[in-house]
Amino acid sequence: MLEVFAIIGLCKVNKRNAIANGRRPGGYIALTIVLWIVMEFIGAIVGTVVAAVSRGGDMSDESGIKLVGILFAYGFAGIGALISFLCAKFAPKGNYVDPSLQATPQYGQSPIYGNSSTPAYMASNQPAQPQEFVHVENPYQPAPVQQSVQYCEFCGQTLKPGSKFCSSCGTKVDIPVGE
Ligand SMILES: [Zn+2]
Repeated sequence: MLEVFAIIGLCKVNKRNAIANGRRPGGYIALTIVLWIVMEFIGAIVGTVVAAVSRGGDMSDESGIKLVGILFAYGFAGIGALISFLCAKFAPKGNYVDPSLQATPQYGQSPIYGNSSTPAYMASNQPAQPQEFVHVENPYQPAPVQQSVQYCEFCGQTLKPGSKFCSSCGTKVDIPVGE
């Protein structure tokens, strides 16, 4: 189980190094895991063979052969880990930028909050402003109806909505009421 944490830790290091070099980290993480496991597997075989050969093919010392196999497995895994580390550390420079780094405080460039330099916490409050205006405007909405009340230019009689002529004196209304 300890080994799993070691692999995860190495993956994080290699990911960081890959991103620092402008490389997409996915391949380097896969390389880290594959190299580690494959090299560990090869090391176990090589260690077992070496231990068996050194004993003249005598497999009776089972625990001793097993121990050599495990030691070789860890040794080879370490070499695999080093290779993956060097690959990520000295990866050719690319132009990849980690999405999580793009999303952080660059408010001005973030497409989410438009082209303003408004911080995220203020941008999230902005929808409240139009709502306030709606509430303010509502009481004034009957106002156009009141303004549409017109008076005859000639006699001053109140004109009915939609009328084209004064009901009192018959003078033509230039702008029909209510339109
Ligand atoms: Zn009139």
